[in-house]
Amino acid sequence: MTESVDLQAENRDLRLQLQALISNARQNEQILRRQQELELRIIGVGGLKELVQEVLVSYRRSTELDAVTLSLVDPEYEVHRMLQGVEINPAELPDLVFFEDNCDLAQLFGTQLAAQLGPFNPDRHAFLFPGLDSAVRSVAILPLVRRQELIGTLNLGSFDKGRFVRGMATDFIERMGGIVAISLENVLNSERLKHFGLTDALTGVHNRRYFEQRLYDEVARVQRYGEGLSCLFLDIDHFKKINDTHGHQAGDLALQQVAQRIRGQLRSCDVLVRYGGEEFAALLTDTPEAGARATAERIRAAIAAQPFPLPDGSSIPITLSVGVATQGHYASSLSIEGVARALVERADQGVYRAKEAGRNRVAVVSLS
Ligand code: GH3
Ligand code: MG
Ligand code: MG
Repeated sequence: MTESVDLQAENRDLRLQLQALISNARQNEQILRRQQELELRIIGVGGLKELVQEVLVSYRRSTELDAVTLSLVDPEYEVHRMLQGVEINPAELPDLVFFEDNCDLAQLFGTQLAAQLGPFNPDRHAFLFPGLDSAVRSVAILPLVRRQELIGTLNLGSFDKGRFVRGMATDFIERMGGIVAISLENVLNSERLKHFGLTDALTGVHNRRYFEQRLYDEVARVQRYGEGLSCLFLDIDHFKKINDTHGHQAGDLALQQVAQRIRGQLRSCDVLVRYGGEEFAALLTDTPEAGARATAERIRAAIAAQPFPLPDGSSIPITLSVGVATQGHYASSLSIEGVARALVERADQGVYRAKEAGRNRVAVVSLS
């Protein structure tokens, strides 16, 4: 009798244990599935903006962590510039921490680049969690490594001191560190490719392809709510003669310096491109005709003011002929393509008129 009661109790116990195991396995399966989905999303991101979003927002949400930050080693401010290129101001993303070298980060790991789990130590970890350092109780710091180099860290923080403890299994989070490192390199490489495809190799300013993309975007913006967009075409006068007199190499050097001098007269939001050969184009955003004429005149004067020095000690006087066209802020009856084409045609016509009138001058051609 007692034996059967014991057996029944044992049976019940076993069933409960089994149920607990099954529910645990289901939970683990769910966690695994969520982790896999997240990993696939991170691997599949199309660009830097998306990657930052997935890591700092989606990953934090799905892991229910109190803090997720990303630190990146960015010695030449390349990532900074790329983020600005996709309209993210790095200063507005406190969860993204930049370092000029990897010294401070390397100190966290010692000789082995492995995940560091344990209690939050303000002296060691506060710099990775800006603004949150008083609440974080436990952390996992994952090294992001490419080709044996520490390129950053993924920093996970919890207000619960038991969430990350030394000796805990780290397979999941280490995997995530590896995936973020690979995705990061991947998006940086693709942004670099895009950059090369849109930059002029000789002068370092953008190229005509970039101009065409931006022109279209900027015209569309003005059609919606802009304040006027001006287009400048700038053509070096008698450049052929410069090549003939001083050689092609001197001509190249002059082109580089002319580009820099023009850039110096523009706002950082203005677009400058080498349109081709010895011809540059600029897009001045939120700039009505009078402002564009003034800028064009300022550039013309800055180029003519001082000859351009050559390595042999001589120098070349250079002048520009500039054409200006402006799209007003009114809703135009033309399509975006129509306005874009008209701006380029009129600015080009302006160059032609300036040449005809004797060069080293600015000509404004109205769009209407
Ligand atoms: P204009 O005042 O009428 O514009 O005369 P120009 O001599 O500047 O115009 P033209 O179109 O006749 O000649 C342009 C010259 O620019 C010819 C070409 O060899 C030179 N050129 C174009 N691209 C480069 C370059 O990348 N490097 C050098 N050194 N010269 C270039
Ligand atoms: Mg020319
Ligand atoms: Mg030309």
